[in-house]
Amino acid sequence: MRKGEAKWAWEEDGTKVVRSIARTGPGCHQGCGVLLYVKNEKLTKVEGDPEFPHNQGRLCSRCLALTQIVYHPDRLKYPMKRAGQKGEGKWERIPWEEAYGMIAQKFIEIKKKQGPESVIFCQGTGRDIGPYISKLAYSFGSPNKVTFGPLDGHACFAPKVTVLAATTGAFEVTDCAQFFPERYENINWRVPQCIMIWGNNPLTSNPDGFMGYWITECMKRGSEIIVVDPRRTWLATRAKIWLQIRPGTDAALALGMLNIIINEKLCDEEFIRKWTYGFAELTRRVQDYPLEKVSEITWIPKEKIIEASRLYATSKPAAIQWGVSIDQSKECVPAIHAIMSLWAITGNFDVPGGNVIKSQNFNLDDEIKNEFQAISEEQKEKKIGRGIYPLLDQWYLPAVGSVVIDQILTDIPYPIKAAWIQTTNTFACSAADAKRVYEAFKKLDFIVVVDLFMTPTAMAFADIVLPAATYAERDGIALTGGNSIFVGTTNKAIEPVGESKSDMEIILELGKRLNPQVWPWNNVQDMFSAVIKSMEITFEELREKGFAYDTFEYKKYEKGLLRPDKQAGFNTPTGKIELYSTVFEKCGLDPLPYFEEPPESPVSTPEISKDYPLVLTTGAKSWGFFHSEHRQIPILRYMNPDPITEIYPETAEKLGIKDGDWIYIETQHGRCQQRAKLTAGIHPRVIHSQHGWWFPEKPGPEPSLFGVWESNINLLLPSGWVGRSGFGYPFKSQMCRVYKKEES
Ligand code: SF4
Repeated sequence: MRKGEAKWAWEEDGTKVVRSIARTGPGCHQGCGVLLYVKNEKLTKVEGDPEFPHNQGRLCSRCLALTQIVYHPDRLKYPMKRAGQKGEGKWERIPWEEAYGMIAQKFIEIKKKQGPESVIFCQGTGRDIGPYISKLAYSFGSPNKVTFGPLDGHACFAPKVTVLAATTGAFEVTDCAQFFPERYENINWRVPQCIMIWGNNPLTSNPDGFMGYWITECMKRGSEIIVVDPRRTWLATRAKIWLQIRPGTDAALALGMLNIIINEKLCDEEFIRKWTYGFAELTRRVQDYPLEKVSEITWIPKEKIIEASRLYATSKPAAIQWGVSIDQSKECVPAIHAIMSLWAITGNFDVPGGNVIKSQNFNLDDEIKNEFQAISEEQKEKKIGRGIYPLLDQWYLPAVGSVVIDQILTDIPYPIKAAWIQTTNTFACSAADAKRVYEAFKKLDFIVVVDLFMTPTAMAFADIVLPAATYAERDGIALTGGNSIFVGTTNKAIEPVGESKSDMEIILELGKRLNPQVWPWNNVQDMFSAVIKSMEITFEELREKGFAYDTFEYKKYEKGLLRPDKQAGFNTPTGKIELYSTVFEKCGLDPLPYFEEPPESPVSTPEISKDYPLVLTTGAKSWGFFHSEHRQIPILRYMNPDPITEIYPETAEKLGIKDGDWIYIETQHGRCQQRAKLTAGIHPRVIHSQHGWWFPEKPGPEPSLFGVWESNINLLLPSGWVGRSGFGYPFKSQMCRVYKKEES
């Protein structure tokens, strides 16, 4: 373990400076190093910490706007209980004690009458609060922690984690030297000769702890870029090759590339022979994906597919940086399997500058997994959706998102009565079929929402609203995101605004009332020390020492570092990377990668395409917002004042649409309105619409709910189109039409 040396707090010209690591709330889950400047007890400025290797002084606009977030007049400042009908917007301020008492009484009453499984615990995208929400759920006795909103098909990161665990026994990420405190200067690291950026716009999204500017650092050092994206992103304009793909056809492209690389013998034969299982079967499978066919499916010219395949396969090392677009196809499991096979057959596996296996030593989740194990077998069987999807049952702990809403609406096999909602904005954000999600949560007897601001979710559903503190107002353990591995502390710089409390403090204090044995700590700092006990360090010691990086080695499979028996190889049933997956086979799934058309597409539903001729893709991030957050923050809203749909200029002209017009976007399933932005940077047959839109400036009470029904793109997406593994949902590929909204 290597440690940072810098102090965490000091004085500078009468200003206190606190070195911290940014975690929610608000915003994303990356863990950038920040310097928080405090004068007269007030946060006055935020800067990137130049000494923190993860971001090296850089910050994106969301963290730079932190002072506007902390002191925003609309911050929730006190616990409140509902004082009118649900959705009426009438609230009464109550003391924390009363709020905890009401919640504990109601949850325990439900536990006695219906069983603890009738209370669900919902969280949004992965954040440092996630494990504590799990612990709250499981220690209460409910097996039903619900992630992402709930998100159909768990279509965000979880499919990748599962498929890579099943086929490689680990999790691989693009190697941009993020495992070393000295970063690009590390003598063992090599600059990737080529990086494929696949379904990802990392400069604006910084996904899962992978910072987009790591790519530009590699480009400065010579990396060639291939971009796979229907949109011409900044990186696409600087790429050696841009593959403008039809949304939802990533598996076909990967299989076509595998076909070229295998048939042209551009593989790493020694690596394949020693370390992979099922190459012969994969070779036979990819013959079903000849160039002509793949070009037709993906809309990418043949010569570009050949050029990209050769550049990727002959560059040593080469890496693939992929985005959530891959998870957001219905059959995402074979798509992920196919892309992983690319780095496996070219030997770019756990080598410097390739796709490397993330170290797993700092795993704070164990305590949470143990909590799940502590639930009785009978309770585990009651997890919502258990028994439907064998792959999910085996590899993924949370309740099955797509089944949660069905169960709330039908009460089958048992009724859901209450929900704890923390760090998620349900129907306003990521859940498909937003109206159905709204109707489902409306049906519950009792809902608690914890958030920084009043949201459509809190306004529509909450019986009790609890105010959360920002990361500037709290302590915390900052463990890395999905793509790097460090641990450090989030350090409180200012007192919380009003009576707000940190998410962890809220959970600890409620946990003590629900199951005191499991929550024995007097304060969150003691709880954090327990969470990092395997590092043999306390929270305060870690804070003093600064951040710590885990040791990192390449080619772990050669050194016996991956398997429990310490033998060389991979932690899979065959001990090899499974190009032919024995796990999928056992789960009744195709053991080899394949491509399946999206459920609605110009090919699978030509009759629908006559009326809905454009492909709607959604979910790309913008600079200012994290999903449905930040819409009330002046500087961030200034950057992106309205919901935007990107349309190709000639496509728009044929429809009589001009730049800036309000338009309707409509699918068979619903419609919403956004503003047209004409851009040549999108395929003529594709539009991109922003997600997560609501308008904090509009009336909060029903029926408006801050205008949440006006521009909510998830009104256009049906529920239920989940992949056969239980993972995947076609967020990126619905058939739609657009037309101008007449002012009358
Ligand atoms: S990626 Fe942006 S919002 Fe996220 S922690 Fe870093 S600076 Fe903050």
